[in-house]
Amino acid sequence: MPTSPSGPVAPADTSSAVTGAGTPAPLPPGIVVAVDGPSGSGKSSVSRAAARALGVAFLDTGAMYRAVTFSALRAGVDLTDPAAVAAHVRTAALSVGTDPQAPAIAVVGADGTETDVTQQVRGAEVTAAVSAVAAVPAVRADLVLRQRALIEAACAAPAPGARPGVVAEGRDITTVVAPEAHVRVLLTADEGVRLARRAQQDLGAADAASVEAVRRSVSERDRVDARTTAFTAAADGVVTLDSTHLDFEGTVAALLQLVRDATGEGA
Ligand code: C5P
Repeated sequence: MPTSPSGPVAPADTSSAVTGAGTPAPLPPGIVVAVDGPSGSGKSSVSRAAARALGVAFLDTGAMYRAVTFSALRAGVDLTDPAAVAAHVRTAALSVGTDPQAPAIAVVGADGTETDVTQQVRGAEVTAAVSAVAAVPAVRADLVLRQRALIEAACAAPAPGARPGVVAEGRDITTVVAPEAHVRVLLTADEGVRLARRAQQDLGAADAASVEAVRRSVSERDRVDARTTAFTAAADGVVTLDSTHLDFEGTVAALLQLVRDATGEGA
């Protein structure tokens, strides 16, 4: 299987963020926190901060869909041909970094050369094409297996100094990739708030014109993605965390509280 975890996971001794004042957090070995949500819900940055605080790995599954899309675009694959897309993805090797301090993703060439595509996969070309690639069932089947392997690796063989475990985020982590996760959260926010956050992140401003500029691509991507994955309503056993009225720190704190609740710590 062509996915390999890479890059050290930070040896963050941040247990105080979990239990309060300096008390080590006795998390279950191999804690798995699954976070799903729509575009602009903040799930990537919130999940990454929570992973740092917990001292565990961070898995951005959207980056994997983006990286195989980048690879297919570069290879000139016809993205309207599901069989061609599936055939390409089967051979597309990725190196997925799960260090929450510096998550990175690379495409691995036939000669083993890694090309870091962390920045490129966030670009408009990939963003516009990724939903079509993610809708191909064979692509999902392939990437779900790789994601499960990465989660298992983060639990069984954490990087030096890291705790066993992972915060994994995406659209189907709570339902398909890791439905057995210790903590399962759907992170949501009102559409207007999500659009403003995305405009701030992508365009550096959240004024009316910037929000309008991101509305089409964000809403359209959510609409297409919603045909493939169920990320708009919480599945059974999944807790909804609505960040509409929370700032970033407040949302991270709320997620960490859910971890505490699930693990019986700090109640
Ligand atoms: O989260 P992000 O916006 O980077 O995800 C990019 C795309 O990858 C989504 O729009 C969706 O099409 C796809 N995706 C998915 N399942 C996941 C994560 C992402 O289908 N678990």
